Amino acid sequence: MKIFIATKNKNKLKELERILVPMGFDVVSENDLDKPLPEVDETGVTYEENALLKARSGLEVTGLVSVADDSGLSVDYLDGAPGLYSARYSGMNATYDSNNDKLLAALDGVPRDKRTATFVSAIACVFPDGREFTVRGECPGYVAEKCSGTEGFGYDPLFICSAGCYAEISPEEKDRVSHRGIALRIFKEELKKYI
Ligand code: IMP
Repeated sequence: MKIFIATKNKNKLKELERILVPMGFDVVSENDLDKPLPEVDETGVTYEENALLKARSGLEVTGLVSVADDSGLSVDYLDGAPGLYSARYSGMNATYDSNNDKLLAALDGVPRDKRTATFVSAIACVFPDGREFTVRGECPGYVAEKCSGTEGFGYDPLFICSAGCYAEISPEEKDRVSHRGIALRIFKEELKKYI
């Protein structure tokens, strides 16, 4: 089955392709289009709403069944921040490094047992006939006191889950335990009800 992955984030695309291709999907992405995907204003108040906004934009451009991920890291000590605003936590010109620096500063001196956090991924799927669904995957863990590892992207160097630091485990291991891996396996099962 052909599906369009509606994302402009190259790191997310890599992960989504890495999981969806072995599941048997014929994946199409922005790389296959003759013009760039439009930027989507993430005006939703939930991960699911934002994922739907991105997936609908993909469907509008391609006419294909489209999927999109909206994700973020929710830190308990920070009342759920950066959460929905994970990508722009340190401002409009945020980089992965500046976001990690801001998170470390926000948790400076906070003991290990109060650094608990959850990575969340909502995956939306929209169909040309107007049907839509969303699924969610979550991975619990905590925020480390310093960055480590070279794998992955974003907050990976700071996030420790049961399998270890996201940036220190292999891509295959991350897919097995991660919020996105969990969400995509639920997505695959849910999709069966629609086709
Ligand atoms: P959005 O879904 O485009 O709003 O952005 C989500 C942001 O959350 C990314 O830019 C990353 O900063 C962060 N994020 C989402 N998933 C991951 C992940 O698997 N590892 C590390 N950071 C992530």
